[in-house]
Amino acid sequence: MPINMLHTLRQIVQGVNQSEALDDALQFLVTQTKQALETQCCSVYLANVEAGHFTLMATDGLAQSSVGNAVIGFHEGLIGLVGEREEPINLANAHQHPRFKFIPEVEEEQLNAFLGTPIIHQGRVLGVLTIQQADARQFSEQEESLLVTLSAQLAGVLATAKARGQLTAASNHQRSMVVLQGVAGSSGIAVAQAWVERVAVELEDVVEGQHDDLDAELERWQNAVLQTREYIERLSLRLGESLERDVLAIFDVYQNMLNDSSISGAVEQHIRSNANAETALVRVAKDYISQFAAMKDAYLRERATDIRDLAQRLLYFLQQRAHELTEHEEPLVLVAEEVTASMLASIPRDKLLGIVSVRGSSNSHAAILARALGIPAVLGIADLPLKKCAGRDVILDGYSGRLYLSPSAAVTEEYARLLRQESELQAEFEKNRELPAATADGRRLSVMINAGLAADTEHYGGGADGVGLFRTEIPFMIRDKFPSEEFQFQTYCNILKRFPGQSVTMRTLDVGGDKALPYFPIREENPFLGWRGLRMTLDHPEIFLVQIRAMLKAHRKCQNLRIMFPMVTNIAELEQAKKLLFKAHSELQDELEEHFNVPPIGIMIEVPAMLYQLRAVADQVDFVSVGSNDLTQYLLAVDRNNARVANLYDELNPAVLNALNSIAEQCRQYKLDFSICGELASDPLGAVLLVAMGYKVLSMNAANIGRVKWALSKVSMDQCQHMLRKALNLSSADTIRRQLYVDMDSFGLGALIRPGQ
Ligand code: PEP
Ligand code: MG
Repeated sequence: MPINMLHTLRQIVQGVNQSEALDDALQFLVTQTKQALETQCCSVYLANVEAGHFTLMATDGLAQSSVGNAVIGFHEGLIGLVGEREEPINLANAHQHPRFKFIPEVEEEQLNAFLGTPIIHQGRVLGVLTIQQADARQFSEQEESLLVTLSAQLAGVLATAKARGQLTAASNHQRSMVVLQGVAGSSGIAVAQAWVERVAVELEDVVEGQHDDLDAELERWQNAVLQTREYIERLSLRLGESLERDVLAIFDVYQNMLNDSSISGAVEQHIRSNANAETALVRVAKDYISQFAAMKDAYLRERATDIRDLAQRLLYFLQQRAHELTEHEEPLVLVAEEVTASMLASIPRDKLLGIVSVRGSSNSHAAILARALGIPAVLGIADLPLKKCAGRDVILDGYSGRLYLSPSAAVTEEYARLLRQESELQAEFEKNRELPAATADGRRLSVMINAGLAADTEHYGGGADGVGLFRTEIPFMIRDKFPSEEFQFQTYCNILKRFPGQSVTMRTLDVGGDKALPYFPIREENPFLGWRGLRMTLDHPEIFLVQIRAMLKAHRKCQNLRIMFPMVTNIAELEQAKKLLFKAHSELQDELEEHFNVPPIGIMIEVPAMLYQLRAVADQVDFVSVGSNDLTQYLLAVDRNNARVANLYDELNPAVLNALNSIAEQCRQYKLDFSICGELASDPLGAVLLVAMGYKVLSMNAANIGRVKWALSKVSMDQCQHMLRKALNLSSADTIRRQLYVDMDSFGLGALIRPGQ
């Protein structure tokens, strides 16, 4: 494409991007495109999926009165044809084409030539961009390539506008339903009105000022610190009723920031150089926020939120406002730019049905707390129109990560049905929860839970055969320094004691990838392929040994621990880890002057390389547990956190199923004890296939125990194997899923199939 064309194109896209309203953006687009291509008409049609048609949204050349009114079905006319074929259509005389549809109100009788290109985002046709002219000649290759390039670039802009719900703005001024996609932070469904939580005073609102009495100003500052400290203590007490002490550590992080002499020291220094307390606080806070916000590491960036939250609380007290906790009468879904731990704590648990935020990821404190409290959450909705949310009805789907603003009657009806079904099924699952896990023909299985916080085990309601995976990194992540050996010992003992006579498999620290510690930053270009799990702890034996010692001491007391190493790639790493473990064990025996046994040792199978080394692994360990989450990510080369490739991340991909099957076959051959602790085991579909492969121990989120037990109790081993045989013969995840749905339905498990998942 010539340089001047590229320039024109960039200008058009920039102009569209800068327009505040969608109508203006589209009008700018058509006018500029028409001008750049020196043609007689340019129009844009956008898809309305619910209605099944394209609507003319802007035009320069057709009748203006038809904008917002002219519609054309998905399978009608040339516009429909462009959408169906998903490719440009370039015609010298459109009227002669068999698919031409005459729409009188657009007044296009004079326009013969037609070029239409689809606007496609992530495989979906969002609309069609057209140019037309009277002269009955085909548009040139150059014109065609410009329009195609323009459409491709506009797709992203339009997708965002669509998510914001602006696409229907031109034709519908009522509150139309908006569907937004975020990250599924905590599972479940919530239907309620949105409560938009705003911070009363923003740092940005503070006007710089000076003081005229140093001592009085310092005292004012110290009082504010004191009041903030008391306020956080109150919040922490309020939540303390429903949360374990280890989750409340989040508030300790705030208290520690308040105690941090570098923060308050810096504020006092600014006060000493004549700034008033508000100004001093804002300067210091902004400095910290920009430092954290610029960090590459996602977890550390989130700490900027904590600083802002804390600074805003301080500001509140500096301005001498009595801070009352708002009393909420009605159940609500909390909506905020960023949901902070203190916001969460300020709403009574029985009123808080769900959590939605613009920022945040599955790593944020809000997500960790939401899961621990069992509150559905959708986070990271970049396009969330905060100002328009307050008081609107919302439906939050914490399974799919979707949020519906002002849901249509049909969607509300559907979710009401799902909720009813969920609670009926839940009642049914509850009956199964305490029964031993087994197939319909009585094959006994073990169902365990995955946990990371004492709270996970506290809220699970019983019914598990033990803990199949305790993610020890979680207690590390919500602190502001490495926990001591004593602290770890207590934490591990608490868990082991809750499951007397049942095994608890604890994984050694698995940080790196998307799990970072605020006090131990790891900056890497490619963190999932980098310094993760055992790789990191072997390089830091001092961290590893403290943890191992704490685990061994806990095992000595309780005798039900199994230790598991994450992210093992080769046998040498495993040998090194075992060597350290045995060293710690013998030192402890010397120190305590007592002999005690070494707990069973195992590894996670999550790096595909381990599939080819299982014979050697069998000589080294007592058990393996398959981490299908990471195994899927590494086998398919798909980042498990990247929304752009999320459609490729599928545990039902034939490659993943074959890998899981091969692990089971090999483990049987080498007489190696094996289980699975990835998400696939929490899904009844996955559980059925895994049981057929020979997995007898499934470890899952506590919330899914009843569901999976119920599903397994309805199918015989023969039926499971029948489903597996069919699945292994199919060549795509989609066909496998469809086949499984059909089979599940025929075995009476249709109720478990959730639409949209
Ligand atoms: C896994 O990778 O499947 C797993 C269970 O570990 P995590 O999800 O903690 O990486
Ligand atoms: Mg993993």
